[in-house]
Amino acid sequence: MNHELRTPLNAIVGLVNLCLKTPLTDKQADYLYQAKLATHTLMSLINQSLDYAKIESGKLELECLEFDLSELIHKIYAVFNMQALDKNIEFNLHIDGEINRYFLGDALRVEQVLLNICSNAIKFTDQGDVSFWIGAKEINNNTQQIMIKIKDSGIGISKEQQATLFQSFQQADNTTTRKYGGTGLGLAISKQLVELMGGSIVINSDLGKGCEFVITMPLLKSNQNALFDCSSLMTRQKDSEQEKQVDNHQEHSLQGVNVLLVEDIEINRMIATELLENHGAKVTPSFDGQHALDTLQAGDHFDVVLMDIQMPVMDGLQATRAIRAMPKFEHLPILAMTANAMNEDIANCQEAGMNGHIAKPIDESNMITRILTVLSSSDA
Ligand code: ADP
Repeated sequence: MNHELRTPLNAIVGLVNLCLKTPLTDKQADYLYQAKLATHTLMSLINQSLDYAKIESGKLELECLEFDLSELIHKIYAVFNMQALDKNIEFNLHIDGEINRYFLGDALRVEQVLLNICSNAIKFTDQGDVSFWIGAKEINNNTQQIMIKIKDSGIGISKEQQATLFQSFQQADNTTTRKYGGTGLGLAISKQLVELMGGSIVINSDLGKGCEFVITMPLLKSNQNALFDCSSLMTRQKDSEQEKQVDNHQEHSLQGVNVLLVEDIEINRMIATELLENHGAKVTPSFDGQHALDTLQAGDHFDVVLMDIQMPVMDGLQATRAIRAMPKFEHLPILAMTANAMNEDIANCQEAGMNGHIAKPIDESNMITRILTVLSSSDA
């Protein structure tokens, strides 16, 4: 279902973006820009509806793997500090007391909840600040109760509106969609996820007085005994500044890069080729996994392979395994570029030997950043 919905949407998003780069009247540019915003809303609606349906049908299973909580929080900080700067508000991080660093749990789902609540906090705040506070309480030798408070000085939510807020497709009032966009599913999903983890989300707010979301979740400590690492905060900040620079220097950033583009659908090939060529890349098209293998074996040099997953003859995972089995291509950077974008799909790509994942519909800036990142680490 996910793949079937994303594939045509990728074509629409790609064509609108390409069209926006051609000479246009102001009116045409405005219509296309509106269409582009609508595709973003549609995309997030599709992703969230699929997630919600999975939760509702009881099919969502949480992972239980070791993760570094300080790394996760610092990633959140890097994302939202930058968004806050763009809006001229502050994003403050407070880390309180003795929090463990390594836990067992579903890091992606914890991140999804925090991303949702923080992005709402930034979205609904035009002045002042958003603060992110994290603390922990020992429940027993194996478990810490993590408490996170995300507080903003934005528009707030009235007590009546709070009553229905965690239900699906609910927004505080119907002017919200017009002014701020959104789907009304994020909080419903976040609440369900936190409850699946054995925790809770509480909201303290009133209209015009900002919002505070308090999330508590019991997390199992892993065997690695270390305290939350505050020192990486500075590195993260530097990383996000560097990422921003990559963003700003994207115009000819793929000059001289040879890309093997493996994609069976013609319109997707055309969109990706134009985007890559606009950044200076030399693109060689390939139509399925077997064709890609043949092209590589013919001997031309490629710096990176962008590989679709679902393809006839040989799919992208099989092709990647076959490429990795050849010693001379052991280190060739391969990025999945696919509408298979659920967590398990990303894990399958890694397992097959890919170096990363670009989801369709293609976000141009994300695609270029991913390619540059994989190229710079393969240089090292
Ligand atoms: P979305 O933001 O996509 O509409 P959510 O489920 O995340 O969906 O949020 C539902 C509604 O709750 C929002 O549309 C908004 O009306 C209200 N809301 C959520 N967070 C905040 C906040 N920090 N400040 C004000 N209103 C909020």
